[in-house]
Order: sequence, then C-alpha cells, then structure tokens
Amino acid sequence: MKPKNTLLILGLSLMFALLSFGSSAQEDMYAVKTVVIDPGHGGKDPGAMSKYGREKDIVLGIAKYLKKFINDSLPDVKVILTRDKDVFVELYRRGEIANQNKADLFISIHINSNPSTKPYGTETYVMGLHKTKQNLEVAKKENQVILKEIDYKKKYDGFDPNSPEASIIFTLFQNAYLDQSLKIASLVQKNFKNTAHRLDRGVKQAGFLVLWKTAMPSILIEAGFISNPTEAKYITSSKGQKELAYAIFKAFKEYKEEMEAEGRKAKGFEANSEKPTVLYKIQFLTSSKPVDYDSPELKNLNKSLISTEKIKNGMYKYYYGYAKTFREISALSKDIKKNFKDAFIVAFDSSGNRISLREAKKIEKKSNKK
Ligand SMILES: [Zn+2]
Repeated sequence: MKPKNTLLILGLSLMFALLSFGSSAQEDMYAVKTVVIDPGHGGKDPGAMSKYGREKDIVLGIAKYLKKFINDSLPDVKVILTRDKDVFVELYRRGEIANQNKADLFISIHINSNPSTKPYGTETYVMGLHKTKQNLEVAKKENQVILKEIDYKKKYDGFDPNSPEASIIFTLFQNAYLDQSLKIASLVQKNFKNTAHRLDRGVKQAGFLVLWKTAMPSILIEAGFISNPTEAKYITSSKGQKELAYAIFKAFKEYKEEMEAEGRKAKGFEANSEKPTVLYKIQFLTSSKPVDYDSPELKNLNKSLISTEKIKNGMYKYYYGYAKTFREISALSKDIKKNFKDAFIVAFDSSGNRISLREAKKIEKKSNKK
C-alpha cells in the first residue's frame, strides 16, 4: 500500500473509532470504579534491559504493588491487570481489555532507557503529538514491540512503527479524554516527586500505540531509566518498586477523589436548576360570574396584579399579586385586606398545583439554603 493511502485509511478508522466510543462511554463520566493496570512487555518481549534488570520484570512488580495498594484501601475499585505473569500480550489486546471491562482509567507502566547512562527520572505520557524528538523516540521504542507480533500490519491498520508518517497520524487523534488524562498524569508526576522523591521529568505527549484506541483517560508512565546505574538499582529493588507503586496509588486516589467531587458538583448544579420553587398569591374573591377588572369593586387594585382562574364548578377565583416568598406576599395582603377582609394567601408549586402554606414554606426554606 502507498504511504498516502495508508495515512487515509488510518485516519478514517480513527474517526470511526472515535464515533463509536463517543456514545457508550459517558454514562457516569465522573465515576472511577474500574482501573486497568498494564505492565508493559512480557514473555518473549523483555522491553528495555541493562545488566541490572529487565523492564518486563520491573513493571510487573510495580503493577502488582499498585493493585495491592488499591485493593487494600479502595475496596469499591475493581483492579484489572493486563498480565499478572511473564507472558506476551499484544499491544492492541491491552487497550481491548480496558475497553471490554469499561474501565474508567488505563495506566500503562514502562521503564525508560537511553544510550547514555546519564539520564534518569520519571515521566508520564498522554496520547498526543510529540513536541520533541526525544518524546518521539520514546514512543517509537515502545511501539516497536508490535514487530514481534504476527500480522501486526493487519491489527494496527497498516501502522508501521518505522515509518515517519506513523507518528504524524496521531495528530488526527483528538483525545476526548485529554483533560482527564492530563490530570492523572500530573498527579502521578507530582507524587513521584513528593512521595517517592524521584526526579520529575514532566508530563509529555507522544503517539503510543498502546493508548491508541482506549476509550477512557489513559496514561503511559516511564518510571525510571534502566540505563542509569543508580536508578536501575532503585527500580529493580522491591523497595523502589513499592515506593513507585505507592506514588502512583496516591495519584490514583487523589484523581478518584477529584473526579467524584466534580461529579457531585455537577449533580448539585442539576438539582439546583430543577430546584422546587413556590409561588404565592392572595385569593380575594370568588364569583359565579366573571368580574370586570374595571368594576367599582376592583377600582382600588393594581390591575396588572390581578389574575383569574375558572374552576370546575363554573366559579371564578380572583387572585392578587405574585411573590416567591411568604414575607413579600404578606406585605401585599395587608393592603388588599383593607378592601377584602376575607382575602387569604394561597400557594402553588412549580407545576402550578395548589399546595398548603405549610408545604410552601418548607419548599421556600429548602430552596433558600442552596
Ligand atoms: Zn516499555
């Protein structure tokens, strides 16, 4: 296939993917009930390596600790690992696991490496177009994995990790979950720095195949460099893995709390917009015939404040004034009682149904509180 055609087909299938995900995923966009943790690589794919250890072992260690931390303190959260042992899982399958389980968050965990032994520290990626060549290199390296998969061109819509166009294609991807992905990404970096005391290399964007088709906020963590001797010792130790996992757990917990607080706020706004209101009027006259507003009986009244209702038995009720508070209507009723000493206050709910004054005052009190 010519590169241009490949690009077009990739673009179209991206759009379809976005369209089909858009409708299903939004039921409760604030709930964080299911998280999929994806330890990168595995089996025949060791990931990054040095004499200190292999990426696939380190990230599995971190993922297992992370699962335990979440299970221990957040029992309402379902945690799913894309692999819990040393097996090869294809990249597309990892996102598929998250989509099939309707996960609210996808966390892919990886370890970085560099030809130089100098670089160290942590970085967290969200899906997007790389801003630097270095970010592109990280994504390219992680995407290379698919070369170990059979029929990868079929499974990834013709994606070729070695082609320069392959990364450009991600510009077409308008991540619907970018804000949330950035939020969890910054929380992870904040906690790597403050909780695990790692060097914070920042939140970055690049085109990672593993995040490509996930239908939820998704991040890819590079939890340290296996190529840096000091950091390699830390990330291969169970102490290091536990601390890194704990930092990610804290970020997850903060994210969950923030999202759910936003959800409550959104629900509060909904409730406010539909909050029950009450309308008071003064019923001052009942008549078997319509009364002319210009008749001498009504001459002292402000005509614009008079309303009529024809009731079932053919009678006419006459009301005076409108007010949303009992206090306002009481003031008005004092005036009208000079002419109609039997006038009395009545109340209606927001649907126009007559309600008792006691009920009305209760509603009034409630709506003032909000
Ligand atoms: Zn990796």
